[in-house]
Amino acid sequence: MRGFGAGLPPEGAPVQLRLAWEQLHIEGWPEVVTVSRSEVAVRRQGDGLLLEWQIPTGHCAMLLGPQAVTALSAWLPPIAVQRDSATRRWLWISLFLAIGLPLLLLAVFFAFRAEIVDAVVARIPVEQEIKLGEQLWQMQGAQLKLIEGTAANRFLEETGTRLAQARPTPYRYRFSLADDPSVNAFAMPAGFIVVHRGLIEKAASAEEVAGVLAHEIEHAEQRHSLRGMAQELGFTAVWVAVTGDIGGGIAGEWLKGLAGMQFSCEQEASADAGGYARLLAAKIDPRGMASFFETLSKQQGDLPGAMSLLSTHPASAERAAAIRAQLQTAPVFPPLTYDWAAIRASLEKDGAATAAD
Ligand SMILES: [Zn+2]
Repeated sequence: MRGFGAGLPPEGAPVQLRLAWEQLHIEGWPEVVTVSRSEVAVRRQGDGLLLEWQIPTGHCAMLLGPQAVTALSAWLPPIAVQRDSATRRWLWISLFLAIGLPLLLLAVFFAFRAEIVDAVVARIPVEQEIKLGEQLWQMQGAQLKLIEGTAANRFLEETGTRLAQARPTPYRYRFSLADDPSVNAFAMPAGFIVVHRGLIEKAASAEEVAGVLAHEIEHAEQRHSLRGMAQELGFTAVWVAVTGDIGGGIAGEWLKGLAGMQFSCEQEASADAGGYARLLAAKIDPRGMASFFETLSKQQGDLPGAMSLLSTHPASAERAAAIRAQLQTAPVFPPLTYDWAAIRASLEKDGAATAAD
């Protein structure tokens, strides 16, 4: 074995050991060096041990091979726990992979949630969305009490189809009437539009309902409902985008809260603008769009709790102003040829057949 340090050449010198009375005598240094157990620090070096200690003239070190380690095992002090740098690096990497990386991904997900959801929704093909829409509709149909076969149904189907087909669309629209007294309408993905009975009952004209239909069609066309559901679902939506599989279980989750879904102000403004252009393209007077919100605002006090549409569509001053500014240059179209009073009456009659009956 070799000794290094004080009094020896830089490349070290061979040394001999002798153990006597708890003292280690080392021969080979300029003189015999004697160290006691408490003076040395020991750490692993390759398959041997490195002993280090101080003497008055400086620092000494000695490399012990495996044989010497065995011979001195009874004398050697405990080995300092010091992992080599490679082990420590792996420890840190493992810790990062186990804890840091998931946390980092989670933080990134929440920081860029909107962007990620946008990217995910953009990746869902229309055929997949239509499949999802059909699944949701089948499940929703079981929960909704639908009214069928009334004059109000015919009006919704005819006017809705006219508005939907005013522009190219990948969807086959269906307009349904729910037997619900609250003033509400909502769009499900892939062109399933649901109008509540209360909305027909409170609207003053066919054009007012047409304005709501145009707005809801835009929510579907612009994939706001799909995006809203993806946003609520977060990671599940990412799963859908990765696997392309929208199973029944996921569809059930997505169904929750559709009727009360709150869109962003930008989405509402965009649905208003698109709906307005759609009314013009379908040659339907867009004035009903503004007047319906005015009608609702006036009635709001009389109908506590029944204003679902207003709760998800706050009739903000900006919104009304934006519509009114456009209306100043709006062309005049002949009124829709529906007997609005008769349509409302068709819902009041006891004979309004509900699908459940
Ligand atoms: Zn809306």
